[in-house]
Amino acid sequence: MINAKMRELGAKRSVIRETFEYGRTRKAEIGEDKVFDFSLGNPSVPAPPEVNAELVRLIECESSVALHGYTSAQGDATVRAAIARYINESYGECVNADCLYMTVGAAGALTATLTALVCEGEEVVIPSPYFPEYKVFVERCGATVVAVPCDRQTMELDIAAIEAAITERCAAVIINSPNNPTGKVYSEESISALCDVLKRKSAQLGKTVYLISDEPYRELVYGDVTVPYLTKYYNNTVVCYSFSKSLSIPGERIGYALVSPRMENFTAVYQAICGAGRALGFVCAPSLLQRLLPACLGKTADVTVYDRNRRLLLTALTEYGYECVSPDGAFYLFVKAPEDDAVHFCEVARGFELLLVPSDDFGCSGYVRISYCVSTEQVERSLPAFKALIELYKD
Ligand code: PLP
Repeated sequence: MINAKMRELGAKRSVIRETFEYGRTRKAEIGEDKVFDFSLGNPSVPAPPEVNAELVRLIECESSVALHGYTSAQGDATVRAAIARYINESYGECVNADCLYMTVGAAGALTATLTALVCEGEEVVIPSPYFPEYKVFVERCGATVVAVPCDRQTMELDIAAIEAAITERCAAVIINSPNNPTGKVYSEESISALCDVLKRKSAQLGKTVYLISDEPYRELVYGDVTVPYLTKYYNNTVVCYSFSKSLSIPGERIGYALVSPRMENFTAVYQAICGAGRALGFVCAPSLLQRLLPACLGKTADVTVYDRNRRLLLTALTEYGYECVSPDGAFYLFVKAPEDDAVHFCEVARGFELLLVPSDDFGCSGYVRISYCVSTEQVERSLPAFKALIELYKD
């Protein structure tokens, strides 16, 4: 029998993908430069030069059999040791290779971690708005998402509301900072307060409430903003990291899950992640891509283009009368729709060839997400369309 839930997931595209596909068709109809596609979070700047240089070196200099062969199920030990060293040097941690499980991007890390730590009938608390795939990943475990709205003015965590949402059914809290879709980087004060809540709640409930920190945008921050390293604040943390955005290699699918070295029942948690990877068929992340990493740790794609786009859009859209959340990181601008129905607003925007994503699937209504990982030229050309669009709502 076909699994109806899986079929539904496969048959119904995400609104982001649907908008992107519409964009492709529309561009073929009226021309590439006439359509302003802000739908997808696909990095638009090239990978740092070290990426291709190291790939070429690996292919030319390393043994083909070793390069393309299976690694250990949890990832190559030398690669994991290099990542552990980098984390220790960067964040003053004391992790080792055996805290790491290499995965197919952050998605692989999240699905393995959730499968390991969340059981049927449990709940996962997630500040909203949130990355829509979390719901898919959590529900696949037979669990439910409990969305807790962030403060609508600042998009900061609402700590009291999160505390109230953590009940005996809660298995974990997922945090994503810099955030998709708001661009918010949660302050150190918020993170400390959240971790105090998790410690208090775990003690009260007599169970561990895990913190899952989804960090594909860690390095994409603007100005002097810093992103707290969450294992330093809460022992029962798993970091789900991806090189997709920092190295501009999302199609290559490489990331990792990191279990805090101070995790309670560390061995059991790590084994459960390895077991989940095995059950999901996610053993041995792509070998060539794993071996690329040691030479590229600490390298980041040039984010000055994103920063330029961020400033251009924020300044222009605010001047035209849009209400925007000022983003500290990632490459998304979250904008209040000038009507209650964001889906309808996006349809109206299509009339101006502006492709925006309504916020409803992000667990929050009334906003649109603009992915500004596009060329600055596209941003500049789109501004008159944004102006004309908001003018429609002014009377
Ligand atoms: N988490 C968030 C918040 C994301 O935005 C994305 C991708 O856009 C992912 C996870 C998945 O990352 P990856 O492509 O590395 O699997």
